[in-house]
Amino acid sequence: MKIAKNTVVTVEYKLSDAQNNLIEDGRQPMVYLHGGYENTLPKIEEELDGKEAGYASTIQIEPEDAFGDYDPNLLKVEERARLPEPLEIGMQFEGLPEGGEDDDAMIFTVTEIAEDKVVLDGNHPLAGMALRFELKVVEVRAATEEEIAHEHVHGPHGHHHHDADEDEDGEEGDHFRTHPIH
Ligand SMILES: [Zn+2]
Repeated sequence: MKIAKNTVVTVEYKLSDAQNNLIEDGRQPMVYLHGGYENTLPKIEEELDGKEAGYASTIQIEPEDAFGDYDPNLLKVEERARLPEPLEIGMQFEGLPEGGEDDDAMIFTVTEIAEDKVVLDGNHPLAGMALRFELKVVEVRAATEEEIAHEHVHGPHGHHHHDADEDEDGEEGDHFRTHPIH
């Protein structure tokens, strides 16, 4: 079966930066619904469209086609007292950008901790980076009606439904697979 709109694609991948430093070894293959549902990066869909199981390739995706350029305006300094303890570099919080409205809420990552101040970075951890993906298509199947209606994959390796309004089953480092909110 060829990869086309409304097929479910299982891909083994390895993610590195442009200097070949490993970012993610993809121990778990990515399983996504193909066809512009923003389940994975558009450049990956473009590369795999029309291909079949067994197809392998390596592509490099520039920041503008991945997670954008690094924006220094998304850094903010917060009073340490306003954040929970214990606090560690790499922890993430939802917050508002400077002067932002409620619906501008975004994820901030703690990048520096001083005695009484904390630096929070609203950039995606992969912002400003060119990403190199080694891809290998493992399986292609037709999506179910329900998957198409929900615009994501169901099943053992796909999306699991939660009652919580935020999906918490994303694995560590799972930066480019979106986990739609239900
Ligand atoms: Zn669903």
